[in-house]
Amino acid sequence: MVHNFLSPLTGSFAMPAAENPTVAMIGAAYRHHGLDWRYINCEVAPEALADAVRGARAMGWIGFNCSLPHKVAVIEHLDGLGESARIIGAVNTVVRRDGRLIGENTDGKGFVAALREIIDPAGKRVVLLGAGGAARAVGVEMALAGAAEITVVNRSPQRGEEVAAVIDEQTPAIGRYEPWVGHYHIPEGTDILINATSIGLFPDVDAVPEIEFSSLRADMVVADGIPNPSLTPFLKQAQALGCSTADGLGMLINQGIIAIRYWAGIDADADIMRKALADLGL
Ligand code: NDP
Repeated sequence: MVHNFLSPLTGSFAMPAAENPTVAMIGAAYRHHGLDWRYINCEVAPEALADAVRGARAMGWIGFNCSLPHKVAVIEHLDGLGESARIIGAVNTVVRRDGRLIGENTDGKGFVAALREIIDPAGKRVVLLGAGGAARAVGVEMALAGAAEITVVNRSPQRGEEVAAVIDEQTPAIGRYEPWVGHYHIPEGTDILINATSIGLFPDVDAVPEIEFSSLRADMVVADGIPNPSLTPFLKQAQALGCSTADGLGMLINQGIIAIRYWAGIDADADIMRKALADLGL
């Protein structure tokens, strides 16, 4: 019998890295689908990133995720970018294609995939709370998925205006900025409201974005990027008003599914990945 002891390698470069649960989720999918692949969670300091990427090349890694603080810095070490990664200006997934390392961004793609289980973004009017890295990725992917208009609502005007301009100038959607002053009134005709801020992130899990909840309508879809706990107080209030909701756990799982599709070319089982996270109490 001929054995193959050479496992295809994937993983993650980030700092800090210890609390990142992606390794559990992706490892469970590899095992379930009978892939003798490895996902290695690596703590990589900013000054070591170039060597880490060179090492991945030397060892023939199939690809890797990049998390904070490497999402922008990694670009200069790659051979090319996918369309949305180029527009977003950040990479969180690197894929080896024909020997070249290509940067992709699955933050927004994972969000859109989770949202699609509830609503098709095509032609929809969207209010996007936040203008950080996650909001930028979500806004660009919603636009590329066909959303008609995206209103970026952000506390600091500079970041908000920048994300609105990227959407408006580099995608087919209309992008506009609105300042976030007091409790934001959701405009009539909004189809989808998204919290892509860090409000509600552990340990501040009771915090809720300041919006006028009375301006929500039951036919609006409300989404939150916060993965843990996934039923945020923001989503609870929206559900109480009759809105359908999409959570940040779905976004995280779909990012893993997209990464595995890029690397291994298979559609991984979402339930297995969700269970791996649930077993960790997530
Ligand atoms: P950033 O730090 O880049 O951006 C944070 C955003 O939140 C900014 O727009 C900031 O506004 C806004 N914000 C923070 N606090 C407040 C506040 N009190 N009032 C109003 N606005 C506020 O973070 P990221 O974009 O990288 O991440 C945002 C969230 O997305 C994180 O919580 C992360 O968990 C989540 N995320 C989830 C993923 C998933 O798979 N589920 C994947 C990636 C991210 P300002 O510009 O004014 O400072």
